[in-house]
Amino acid sequence: MSEKRKRILTGDRPTGKMHLGHYVGSLENRLRLQDTYECFFIVADLHTLTTRPEREQITEVGQFVHQLVLDYLSVGIDPEKCTIFLQSGVPETYELNLIFEMLITVPRLERLPSLKDMAKAENLDAMPFGLLGYPVLQTADILLPRANLVPVGKDNEAHVEISREIARRFNRQYGEVFPIPEVLLGEVPTLVGTDGQAKMSKSLDNAIFLADDPKTVEQKVMKMYTDPKRVSADVPGTVEGNPVFIYHDAFNANTAEVEDLKDRYRKGKVGDVEVKQKLINALNDFLAPLRKRRASYEQRPEQVDEILAEGTRRAQEVAKETMERVREAMGMFRLKL
Ligand code: ATP
Ligand code: MG
Repeated sequence: MSEKRKRILTGDRPTGKMHLGHYVGSLENRLRLQDTYECFFIVADLHTLTTRPEREQITEVGQFVHQLVLDYLSVGIDPEKCTIFLQSGVPETYELNLIFEMLITVPRLERLPSLKDMAKAENLDAMPFGLLGYPVLQTADILLPRANLVPVGKDNEAHVEISREIARRFNRQYGEVFPIPEVLLGEVPTLVGTDGQAKMSKSLDNAIFLADDPKTVEQKVMKMYTDPKRVSADVPGTVEGNPVFIYHDAFNANTAEVEDLKDRYRKGKVGDVEVKQKLINALNDFLAPLRKRRASYEQRPEQVDEILAEGTRRAQEVAKETMERVREAMGMFRLKL
């Protein structure tokens, strides 16, 4: 694998199954990136501790990790081309995190509105130390493989800015070890939920999962929210902002069919059922190759584990190399054991 290709670090917290929103929001982009860049995809299990600290929640993580890797493989993320690894399997993460904690101030982190929002969302009355340090841990994730690019959504841009500051500070203070990671902002629109809410989200119970079977997809689409003002098929309907058409635009490969449906919908010449039936077919066509890949991996769960293990070994190698450079640059004392 060429060292000259720029490195990318991105990933997910293993908190459950991935859905169509994740597909348009990040997975689709990664499929493109994996051909051009050296990609590291992190399964960020340590990050789940910030918001899911109960023992029952922690014991669920293992199963979510497996599901997440299956989701990655099912969409076509290719373990031959990229490195899929488990964050906690790279202990250097903790080590670099501690070093980075010295290079950023508490007030700087406290100014991040996103962390306050997260604390509020979890009903925490005071900010846990670990949550405040979330962007620092994320910096360790990014800089251990010395990533050049970090694909994130707009909401995460401020966190990568922290990573850039830490990298600059380290390099200035100790010598050039890290690239200054750049944000790779995708123009990712947030996919609406089946209920018409602004965001498809597993916690809102309005998601179509990548792992859903055809029957489940059918049931979910049939219950979908459309144009509330349209009481019958002969009333002209609104296409813009209508979830059913947003999904058609995103997932129906037959654009002529979509244009025809929109045209007839605007004129009051098509019923919701036909629009939905065609959406069911389109979604199932879209999901068919994913299901096929998933099924083949499901028959060989050891192979899924081995892919993650192999990726983690590779991430460990890179992390060890980085930590050597870090300790060397810092002039840290080494105990010979
Ligand atoms: P959920 O919201 O389903 O509980 P999650 O909490 O694991 O999933 P988030 O933290 O909300 O996921 O989002 C993680 C990333 O996934 C986001 O930065 C975004 O890129 C993508 N994503 C999640 N939901 C959507 C969506 N509905 N539309 C587009 N992108 C999404
Ligand atoms: Mg969420």
